[in-house]
Amino acid sequence: MTEILNAGITILYMISAVLFIRGIKLLGKADTARKGNTLSAVGMLIAIITVLFEKDVLASFPLGYGLILLAVVIGAVIGAVWAKKVEMTGMPQLVALFNGFGGLSSLLVALTQYVNTEEAKPFEGITLGLTIAIGAIAFTGSIVAWGKLSGKMFKKSVTIPAKNALNACLAIIGLIGIFIYAFSGMNSSIGLIGIIAVTAAYLILGFTMVVTIGGGDMPVIISLLNAFSGLAAAFAGLAIANSVLVVSGCLVGTSGLILTLIMCKAMNRTLYSLLFGSFGASASKKGAGSGKEPKAMSVEDAYLILEAASSVVFIPGYGMAVAQAQHSVKELADKLEENGAEVNFAIHPVAGRMPGHMNVLLAEANVPYEQLKTADEMNPQMPNTDVAIVIGANDVVNPSALDDETSPLYGMPIINAFEARTVFVLKRGKGAGFSGVENPLFTNDNTVMLYGDAKQTVSALVSEFDDV
Ligand code: NDP
Repeated sequence: MTEILNAGITILYMISAVLFIRGIKLLGKADTARKGNTLSAVGMLIAIITVLFEKDVLASFPLGYGLILLAVVIGAVIGAVWAKKVEMTGMPQLVALFNGFGGLSSLLVALTQYVNTEEAKPFEGITLGLTIAIGAIAFTGSIVAWGKLSGKMFKKSVTIPAKNALNACLAIIGLIGIFIYAFSGMNSSIGLIGIIAVTAAYLILGFTMVVTIGGGDMPVIISLLNAFSGLAAAFAGLAIANSVLVVSGCLVGTSGLILTLIMCKAMNRTLYSLLFGSFGASASKKGAGSGKEPKAMSVEDAYLILEAASSVVFIPGYGMAVAQAQHSVKELADKLEENGAEVNFAIHPVAGRMPGHMNVLLAEANVPYEQLKTADEMNPQMPNTDVAIVIGANDVVNPSALDDETSPLYGMPIINAFEARTVFVLKRGKGAGFSGVENPLFTNDNTVMLYGDAKQTVSALVSEFDDV
């Protein structure tokens, strides 16, 4: 009977692992993403039920089951209400928070395992220590990322003197803690000191590592934290000998790592410069000192320029998400095409607040995939473009990233909107972008500002076309 049960448990774990892998594959495309999400959720449900059987929780019925069911219900209700209520613009910080909770869960699993382990081998001690270390970094790092993304904490750039030396010390203290614990007979008081050292050092390290990062580096660190939360789960799986946790943790960890490397390449950064450099230590001289004022233009005058344009490029940014202007943008694109203009969308890899943010919004508005172009595809065509319409974008079109070595954005590739014959910038006022760096594009001779909420401005432009 026990053998049959064990075989059944292994088969169920394999089924949930296959569902996770298939789910991730389907998440790769917008039209299959919903199905992928559902498949992964079913895989998770199977894994949860299986683990209850494997750990013989039934035997402790009703107490064990009761407590677990209570936790599942409380977690599911909070998660469902929160995910339902969250605005589209609040999604990135919610995802950052979920990452952090993933890290915290692995950390708590490891600490519980520590409390329950009478005697363990050094290998088990090391996996347990690594679970704590990576889970702790993912937790505090993600909380800081949440604070920065939501604008609730660390609005101004933070610098830590001798940050690299401090981080190195914390990393070394934590590693020593892991070795002390793993090789000290585990439950000795010295082992306890080791566990406290690694937990405290890496909780602080998560904070110090992320708090100094900003602007173009933020998306990269978020995907790295995502990878960390996966790796922590994989190590937790090793620590408690749960194969499905190892598989799911490895899937999250490796996909997060692949995304991090892709982002680094797209942003012209290395992981080393990201982790050991610091953002915002210097303030841009050019942007701050130009002394020129941006020129405003009315919708009526902007329409006349658009009406005569034969090539138009939309450059969307975070403001388009805030305004939920994607449907109006699609309408304007259609009007321009009917008027004979060639229309494209230039999508920067970090536009918005999460990877693929603009692609998702524009896909929702049925913008054809072929019109969505990367910076590499669009930049060579920019000097031959009649009008570049910057919709709520700021950092991703900031030319100081190209030529101002004192700018914190220096080195980040941008969409070269400034090269178009005329640049329309749609924003509400003089608000800075996520990096807080001033943008000299706004005072260029060929740039005009169309102030106001992006959706209202774009709708007004559509109405101008309708009125003719
Ligand atoms: P930015 O944050 O640089 O700029 C957004 C602009 O939108 C603001 O200047 C704001 O100006 C304007 N805006 C806000 N609301 C509206 C509205 N309703 N209508 C019109 N305009 C509006 O956005 P970008 O997309 O250019 O750059 C993204 C930034 O976010 C980068 O620095 C990137 O590194 C960072 N980031 C990206 C992540 C990702 O994965 N994509 C994750 C984390 C950070 P005003 O207030 O004057 O209207």
